[in-house]
Amino acid sequence: KVIGSNSNPDDSNKHDAALRPKLLKEVIGQRKVAERLEIAVRASKKLNEPLGHILFDGPPGLGKTTFATVLPNELGTSIQLTSGPALSKPADLLPFLTNLDEGSVLFIDEIHRMPRIVEEFIYPAMEDFRIDIVLGEGMSARTISMNLKRFTLIGATTRSGMLSGPMRDRFKMHEHLEFYSVEELATIVRVNAAKLNTPITPEAAHELARRSRGTPRVANSRLHWTRNYSAAEHDGPITEPIARAALDMAEVDRDGLDKNDRKYLETLIDLYAGGPTGVEALAATINLASDTLADEIEPYLLREQYITRSPRGRVAMPRAYIALGKLASKPKTE
Ligand code: ATP
Repeated sequence: KVIGSNSNPDDSNKHDAALRPKLLKEVIGQRKVAERLEIAVRASKKLNEPLGHILFDGPPGLGKTTFATVLPNELGTSIQLTSGPALSKPADLLPFLTNLDEGSVLFIDEIHRMPRIVEEFIYPAMEDFRIDIVLGEGMSARTISMNLKRFTLIGATTRSGMLSGPMRDRFKMHEHLEFYSVEELATIVRVNAAKLNTPITPEAAHELARRSRGTPRVANSRLHWTRNYSAAEHDGPITEPIARAALDMAEVDRDGLDKNDRKYLETLIDLYAGGPTGVEALAATINLASDTLADEIEPYLLREQYITRSPRGRVAMPRAYIALGKLASKPKTE
């Protein structure tokens, strides 16, 4: 059985849409990215041209969809949303392309998972706002060209390295989203608690932020869980002790690592003697998809230096031994 990353009691994404910022000025953190996008939006309005195609990359939950939905609000245009895996053949793209409004946004999540044949179909749409449709088969096949409304393609990917060179080159802007600081996440927690009419003390917001893996979506789900816990067990605002108890109960440890993070580190340390070991072997042992490991678990563990990558695989760092209380075994630092 593959245990999904949403098997934790605190993982509920259904309120995400309600909490999503609507305008660039409501977006917290990612200042450099937001500033560049603001310039692009202003230029697009002034020059009366559609925004150039934009590619967002970075680990899940850092705001790629948020930025994609904020831009059409800023431009006063519409957005259509789809994803790479949903587009198995060129015909799957047609309804989106024919529904475009002038200057509107087409958002393709997980764009690295779009098949090559669809990718090639989209190139003329990106370059010349035109598509070539083949009618009929064999000898009688003919190609007709169809003009499209001028639009903006926004792609999101957790793996920009898996995108083909030609596809990548067709995006005018490449924006990489980084993990958030504790202060930025604390602001997001406070703003979103207010949107949910949930009083929270600044100390409690800080505690949730500290234990949210640098990720706004995780902060949102920790907030939802803590809100439920607080409503069931207490009256009044969410305080720091309540936040702490709620997260302890959700098995989020004091460093903010969840069950899957700890299982990853424990496996690496106990079964593979701290590594180096390949991601496939780890994934098979933990019973999680290797994509889940590479996309959702490892980026944060790498950035916080719990693990490192060597040519021969993943290696546990001293911080991982400390976090798991395994200081007795000699840390291996390759
Ligand atoms: P995925 O790649 O899986 O689509 P994502 O990176 O697009 O994930 P979002 O869905 O945009 O992540 O973000 C998740 C939630 O986090 C949003 O609904 C919003 O509440 C919050 N959020 C993300 N980024 C920000 C931000 N910069 N400021 C405030 N809230 C944010």
